[in-house]
Amino acid sequence: MPIERVETLVVGGGQAGLAMSHMLGKRGLPHLVLERQRIAERWRSERWDGLRFQFPNWSIGLPDFPFPHAEPDGFATPGEIADFITAYAAFIGAPIRCGVNVSALRRRDGASGFVAETSDGAIEADNVVVATGPYQRPRIPALLPDNAAILQLDASRYKNPSQLPPGAVLVVGSGASGAQIAEELLRAGRRVYLSVGQHRRMPRRYRGRDLIWWLDEMGLLQRPTEERGPERSLPLISGAFGGNTIDFRQFAAAGVTLLGRMERADHGVIAFAPDLARRLAYGDASYAIFLDMMDAHVEARGLDMPRDPGARAALPDPLCLTEPLRELDLRAAGIGAVIWATGYGFDFGWIDVPVLNPAGEPVHAKGITGVPGLYFLGLQWLAKLNSSLLSGVGDDAAVLADHIAARLK
Ligand SMILES: Cc1cc2nc3c(=O)[nH]c(=O)nc-3n(C[C@H](O)[C@H](O)[C@H](O)COP(=O)(O)OP(=O)(O)OC[C@H]3O[C@@H](n4cnc5c(N)ncnc54)[C@H](O)[C@@H]3O)c2cc1C
Repeated sequence: MPIERVETLVVGGGQAGLAMSHMLGKRGLPHLVLERQRIAERWRSERWDGLRFQFPNWSIGLPDFPFPHAEPDGFATPGEIADFITAYAAFIGAPIRCGVNVSALRRRDGASGFVAETSDGAIEADNVVVATGPYQRPRIPALLPDNAAILQLDASRYKNPSQLPPGAVLVVGSGASGAQIAEELLRAGRRVYLSVGQHRRMPRRYRGRDLIWWLDEMGLLQRPTEERGPERSLPLISGAFGGNTIDFRQFAAAGVTLLGRMERADHGVIAFAPDLARRLAYGDASYAIFLDMMDAHVEARGLDMPRDPGARAALPDPLCLTEPLRELDLRAAGIGAVIWATGYGFDFGWIDVPVLNPAGEPVHAKGITGVPGLYFLGLQWLAKLNSSLLSGVGDDAAVLADHIAARLK
């Protein structure tokens, strides 16, 4: 069987793979995109129904393709984002094959370039762009053994409250996913326990503007990777329920029991670290620092924006903070489900090219690896803060397309 050959192979048919396709196409560079399931699959099958895009509609777009919307300040559903990315694929005429999994990637024997083993046969390529997502595999701490009496789901498999057995729910993780899922369950009438970890709260709106306006105005969306500080937690924002600032004190006032970090479980009794007050203080401090930054920006630029003293109002410490629970007996608390919202890791085991560090993370500079012709796109902070976001992936794709064009010359 003759092996199929392409100049550039793009692996992954999400926003990153398609932005790459667009940038290659604009430069007249032949390529093929392979997607193992459907276009924008993760927005179709790995997001919950009540999730809303964290960026307001007015700010959404892919290169040369704005997001159609009736409500500029609204927040899109996962289905609307998936449809938008699918429409983008049609708009750019992406040469994409869906339902084709790339199971291995290696260097070509005795020649430059690569061989991709796929569910549809081998493909040789001079260049490969890996665009398989920043959030590939849920990371679940091995704390709770499988127990038929308790349903355990990670955030990518959670869909809605009715999917869960009756009873209380323990949500582990206080990033954007954990916080939003906890809020949605509470609103659905569930008793909710939320194990809170390190987080960085941000205001949804301040002084009359949405957070995304501020990030853009202050140049933070474009902040280069070299200026990334040591902080690794993702900003805690939400577009759900019209888009509100997440405040765990408000959660507690509404009935959520906040807990420290989950430490261990023994026969259905979970122990939590005595760190809840410290975690909330950190989240509140990062929130206050950000308000200060915005105020300083207004001052420095002489902007005419209304003051917003309400943004600094803080609720008193709830009982679950002053007298934190250190142990929780799942059965006694009537907990029927545990949702793990504990983040994601990489799944690059299929790449047999020396571009991964011992932790399995790609080693690259702005997506360009040390192996000529092999690139990554769409990763967190690939080149700048918004590299993994819909709004930022196009710029990075353009840089990689230019690099590929120069290489082919
Ligand atoms: C819960 C959640 C909420 C988010 N909300 C926002 C938001 O509001 N705004 C925002 O800008 N970003 C958000 N993000 C971040 C980011 O936009 C998404 O993760 C986005 O899906 C990344 O797009 P991507 O194309 O880089 O990767 P993905 O969407 O992950 O696409 C990668 C594609 O590659 C395919 N694939 C993987 N491996 C292979 C293989 N071996 N062979 C063939 N195909 C393969 C997958 O099926 C997938 O379709 C969110 C992320 C999460 C997890």
